Amino acid sequence: MSEEIEHVECLIIGSGPAGYTAAIYAARADLKPVMYTGMEPGGQLTQTTEVDNFPGYPAGVTGPDMMEDFRKQAERFGTDIRFGYVSSVDFSSLPHKVVVDEIKTITADTVIISTGATAKYLGLPSEQKYSGFGVSACAVCDGFFFKGQDVAIVGAGDTAAEEATYLAKLCKKVYMLVRRDEFRASKAMVHRVLNTPNIEVIYNTETKEVLGDGKTVTGVRVVNNETGVEQDLDVQGFFVAIGHKPNTDIFKGQLDMDETGYLKTVPGSTVTNVEGVFASGDVQDSYYRQAITAAGSGCMAALDAERYLAAKEHGVSATA
Ligand code: NDP
Repeated sequence: MSEEIEHVECLIIGSGPAGYTAAIYAARADLKPVMYTGMEPGGQLTQTTEVDNFPGYPAGVTGPDMMEDFRKQAERFGTDIRFGYVSSVDFSSLPHKVVVDEIKTITADTVIISTGATAKYLGLPSEQKYSGFGVSACAVCDGFFFKGQDVAIVGAGDTAAEEATYLAKLCKKVYMLVRRDEFRASKAMVHRVLNTPNIEVIYNTETKEVLGDGKTVTGVRVVNNETGVEQDLDVQGFFVAIGHKPNTDIFKGQLDMDETGYLKTVPGSTVTNVEGVFASGDVQDSYYRQAITAAGSGCMAALDAERYLAAKEHGVSATA
């Protein structure tokens, strides 16, 4: 069954803060953007509860409500928002080819990639049960809710170290659960952790179960992987900081990535190594990973796409 190929000026892949902000700017610039939401419309923020650090919401907002606002604003200016996932791409020639849901082919003059990243979790059923109710993968987003309380954080990389010191400023006590007898984090970060009095590092330790009262987290059961000895720690918050996976599998071999799969962009822009393809949000940012920084880079991607198209139209060099 052959289908007519649809051509669009600006295709946006992904519907987190980066994608929606790109859509708002692209629609207002009359690029008639078409957005494919992916399988999780709204992205990572739909997994969180309160968001208190996004400017413009003085009373806070829930992640799902905020993403609903983003969607409405993108639609208000005419973004064509479609539920579907991009299953493959071919960026080897212009216009770019994108296959949606494995059946529909779209050609696009510009593509804005905002597919985000996914926080890694331990994979315990109890961790999933209390996700958003004491279990979090973002200390900067959720640490505030545990002010004055005791929390645990899993991980031993730079993120875990940074988040542990962030939490230590807010919380009474932070247990840091490290699975080996050493950190992966840089020496400077480890130094900061070890010199923070209310962080207790517990080495050779793995999480067996997140404990709760049916509603929220009340503790965590850990086991020493050398001795097999188990202990329960009384904590109200359980933070997972074992890394993120950028959602870039479909771009392998097509776009330049770093060794962990994050898309490479020209510093200070959203320009990738392929003409007309721009990347914004967490998919190209392993460092800041905030809704507001993702939104900012979504704006940049739409401006980069608009300028690229304008330059092409006027026969000027099309690359930034
Ligand atoms: P990393 O991959 O560097 O570290 C992940 C950590 O999680 C490792 O210590 C790993 O343990 C641990 N881990 C993985 N799986 C499990 C598990 N199932 N149970 C317990 N522990 C587990 O990820 P990060 O997010 O920390 O960092 C990503 C990148 O971003 C790095 O390059 C980092 O340097 C960089 N970054 C830099 C910052 C800065 O410079 N300020 C801040 C934040 C990140 P193990 O060591 O045993 O493998």
